[in-house]
Amino acid sequence: MNTKLAIALLIVLSVLIFTLVIFTIFSQQTPLQSNGVLFQVSSLASLVNGSYEGKMTVHDLLNHGDFGLGAVEYMDGELVCLDTECYRVTLDGMAHELSPGSKVAFASVVFFQPNKTFDIPQQQNFTGLQKYLDDKLMAKNDIFAIKIDGFFSDITTRTVHKQDKLYVPLSEVIANQTISHLYNTHGTLVGFYVPDYMKEINVVKYHFHFLTDNKEFGGHVLGFDMTNGTGYVSKINEVSIVP
Ligand SMILES: [Zn+2]
Repeated sequence: MNTKLAIALLIVLSVLIFTLVIFTIFSQQTPLQSNGVLFQVSSLASLVNGSYEGKMTVHDLLNHGDFGLGAVEYMDGELVCLDTECYRVTLDGMAHELSPGSKVAFASVVFFQPNKTFDIPQQQNFTGLQKYLDDKLMAKNDIFAIKIDGFFSDITTRTVHKQDKLYVPLSEVIANQTISHLYNTHGTLVGFYVPDYMKEINVVKYHFHFLTDNKEFGGHVLGFDMTNGTGYVSKINEVSIVP
């Protein structure tokens, strides 16, 4: 092989490697662009006033995040999104995968990519977990998406009833909630920590919805006894709201 040919081959090879490196970096960064963005459909203030109409399809919602919680249109079930699917939890506490065309009245979702992982001390109830997370997060003005996988000896969830008309105050809807219990189950708490200054936008402090590992049971979390668990936290850097 003569020297010119060798140099030409070297140049071609260098260009190919350079292109491959750039492509690899670019393709890894693309999904990260939405990392840390809380995508919010409607606001707590609207929901409190009874704005229960569907505002976005599940298909569109999943384009903005696949981890989160909310309420289905006309409050026909608690919403929980996990592992690229959204589920509706009905009055019996059972979870049902939502079709892409289903609509949500309120939702908070992210593409969950944890910055922090930690073991939860054994035998925690909801109050204990919140105190533990307070110590771990140490930043009262920040927003966090929080995922906790664990074994629950007992978990209590609630689901609200479907509303036939709009503008029934949320307090009345919650007063008629239906409560479910499940014992000795593996599952995931899907939720957020939101600071007080966002009280018109979202539920402040800790708000979790639950889904069992088999994706069959869930709901808005009222209480639990967790035997053990692992926590994953993702700090939110930006909030995007569709009113
Ligand atoms: Zn809830």
